[in-house]
Amino acid sequence: MANFPEIVHEPTQQGFAKQALAQGLIDSHGRAITDLRVSVTDRCNYKCVYCRTGQVGAQYDELTTEQYLRLIRNFVDLGIEKVRLTGGEPLLRRDLTEMVRELASWRTPLGQKLDIAITTNGHLLEDLAQPLKDAGLSRVTVSMDAVEQETFERVTRVPGSFPAVVQGIRAAQQAGLGPVKVNCVLLRGFNDDQIEGFGHLARREGLIVRFIEFMPLEEGRLWNLDMVVPVKEIVDRLSTVFPLKPLAPNAASETARRYGFTDGIGEIGIIAPVTQAFCGACSRIRLTSDGKIRTCLFSHREHDIYAQLRLGATDQDLRTFILSAVEKKEARHHIGEPGFLKPSRSMVHIGG
Ligand code: SF4
Repeated sequence: MANFPEIVHEPTQQGFAKQALAQGLIDSHGRAITDLRVSVTDRCNYKCVYCRTGQVGAQYDELTTEQYLRLIRNFVDLGIEKVRLTGGEPLLRRDLTEMVRELASWRTPLGQKLDIAITTNGHLLEDLAQPLKDAGLSRVTVSMDAVEQETFERVTRVPGSFPAVVQGIRAAQQAGLGPVKVNCVLLRGFNDDQIEGFGHLARREGLIVRFIEFMPLEEGRLWNLDMVVPVKEIVDRLSTVFPLKPLAPNAASETARRYGFTDGIGEIGIIAPVTQAFCGACSRIRLTSDGKIRTCLFSHREHDIYAQLRLGATDQDLRTFILSAVEKKEARHHIGEPGFLKPSRSMVHIGG
């Protein structure tokens, strides 16, 4: 008989919960946790080389919309201000627009609207951009790893995917979801020849292009430090497109180093978790598609809040469970250090 986890009825936590409701979600390192990333599926219609090298199709369960919303509600009641819906590929969920509409109708305990964002590969975005905007979506980030069709489809391993993504980005801009952010994971030897092209794209299309260092979160054993393109090289090469100047961060917890072109046309971000980690100001917590709380992208433990839900936990129990998970949030990652171990879940099953 499987040992079911006990519902966490910790009365001593009630006081703690009241205090947390007052001060928001603060981890044991003093960081305010305000951003929740929810993976609503680990299914994906792409097979990107740096992410998915194993089998395609779902590997983990998905919750119902009602279950996700109930869990998210308890996070919001504890101080979450931003909710990012991710995957796999979130646009594969037929009820995504309804989920956004419901989230957009909520207010935080401080009476504010939630900041709702989606990270997508853009393949289905052309038809969904306007309905998502109308439902209350605030922002969209599109993963795009090349500006040339041949390289793009070599990375995604899906023929015909490039035009669909370009159309998706344009539809998002027309729907008023701009400035659209485009995330490019840079891998030396795969797409590092695209840097200058993305500089031109940012300037031509008014997109915010962000380069992300390749992290050891792929399914296979592709990652090594030599494949990481450092910040200085990216900045030097973009400066050949047009002179760059550093821009101030939008928030202390912003992961990207922002740069603008000196003539004010186009913006670039560089997210360097490997060579210039930003864990000290981390404000993120994650919920996986099968209902596990991950306190860090590189966590080696997960907190099964879905099990609490199935066991009939009250909302107060769920909030207490969230608080105890946040209390255990890791200080930082240990990539490149002796003894570093990749997490058991790869990126497609975490959702970024
Ligand atoms: S590695 Fe973990 S602690 Fe560091 S920024 Fe990412 S999620 Fe936060």
